[in-house]
Amino acid sequence: CTAAATDLPQHLPALDWITDPSRVARLSQDFAWFSPVLKRELSGKVGEVVVRPRTEDEIRQVVALCARESVPITVRGSGTGNYGQCTPLAGGVVLDLSAYNGFLWCRGAVGRAQAGIRLAEFDERCRPLGHELRWLPSTFRSATLGGLFGGGFGGAGSINYGPLAAPGNVLGVRVMTVEPEPQVLELRGPDAMLLHHTYGTNGIVLELEVALAPATPWTECLVEFDDYGAALQLATEFGAAPGLLKKEVCFLGAPIADYFTALAEHLTPGAHVVLLVLAPEAEAALQAMASRLGGRLCYRKSADEVAASHRTLLEYTWNHTTLHALKVDKGLTYIQTGFDPQRFQAQVLALEAALAGEVLMHLEFLRTKEGAFTCSGLQIIRYTTEARLNEIMQIYRDHGVFINNPHVYVVEDGKQAGQLAPGVLAMKQRFDPQGLLNPGKLRSWAPA
Ligand code: FAD
Repeated sequence: CTAAATDLPQHLPALDWITDPSRVARLSQDFAWFSPVLKRELSGKVGEVVVRPRTEDEIRQVVALCARESVPITVRGSGTGNYGQCTPLAGGVVLDLSAYNGFLWCRGAVGRAQAGIRLAEFDERCRPLGHELRWLPSTFRSATLGGLFGGGFGGAGSINYGPLAAPGNVLGVRVMTVEPEPQVLELRGPDAMLLHHTYGTNGIVLELEVALAPATPWTECLVEFDDYGAALQLATEFGAAPGLLKKEVCFLGAPIADYFTALAEHLTPGAHVVLLVLAPEAEAALQAMASRLGGRLCYRKSADEVAASHRTLLEYTWNHTTLHALKVDKGLTYIQTGFDPQRFQAQVLALEAALAGEVLMHLEFLRTKEGAFTCSGLQIIRYTTEARLNEIMQIYRDHGVFINNPHVYVVEDGKQAGQLAPGVLAMKQRFDPQGLLNPGKLRSWAPA
């Protein structure tokens, strides 16, 4: 570095800088504390200063200054990532894009917004026009569109549209290069996806254009079971039925639902629970299926009731399930798994038999990028040691289940399967030739 990051505010005094060390430390963190391993490894990693630009020109001024002075930049949305994704590994500036949050337009079934827009707001802006976001992570109230693209996977809606990475979901991105004279380019389709899930290391995304779904007045239900297999069967049958419109199907093996203290009045302790978000016209089929399988519909709220209560079951799904469990028991952690579409029920039952009591089964039903119906898991683990955690993940792999290890923070160790695709590296070279975007997050690239 030729200048300390803390000197930067005096060069651009009109911008919104945060220098108070405790606020800077807070804005250097995300939800990596779900992992005892990451909590330890990322302890003490903080930026030196935070800046919150409001316009593209302000972003350009910060980026140009950092590039001239060789100061690292870590991009941040709302900091709901799980792997220390917006934690600076080499200090520098935290570029908080949450104030760069304008909704741009919705035309037909396509919407476009600035990267810092919260997903809830994007969704609300599209609804009066007859559309909604195709996927809502359970963090939709606070998470940003840019953060979901940079570090997320999908969420409710992935049962119809697959993950964000499925072709046709993200249509284009506007990206800024990190150079003394920053350039701005539009990338379309597959080129845009080369910046997806790279934790903000190969380009600063300014705007995103996404395909939308038809707006639907979703009903929210819980069905509980005494029998594990019957609950799994309901989730599978209802989830796979192509004529039954739904947004979310989640299986919670006992005792996970017992951690949902705010829903306790609706649930029998020790029950296996299927959480469903479905179209009103699919409710009769759900009732019939549930009663055939011995399930009890124990909670039902119409879309209007959900809107009036400001409480949605979506905030009990995906990694919110883990959050609710952690609020009750700090000794828990989790793993992320992907089951084989050809035999996921057999895999789930075998792993439940092998690890019952230590691994609590939480499954999210979805379509893969290629369209196959399956489930992914965010299993809750009663944590003992790191060695045992690794053993559990190995047992899963031995059963043919894919592991997305949430206890690592380097891009290649997460979803990129150990190495970066050449196209991803080419984007890094093109958009961050000095290697200033959170140095240390990518292992397999170094400035030429
Ligand atoms: P941040 O955490 O701020 O950033 C995420 C990553 O993207 C960082 O690496 C950051 O550098 C990068 N980034 C942010 N903005 C930009 C930009 N404009 N340009 C380039 N890079 C950028 N994820 C899911 O996919 N589905 C879920 O249902 C889900 N549920 C969750 C539940 C809980 C309780 C928690 C804690 C996490 C969950 N996550 C989920 C993970 C997380 O919420 C998502 O990844 C979320 O969309 C991140 O948004 P954010 O704005 O908080 O991003």
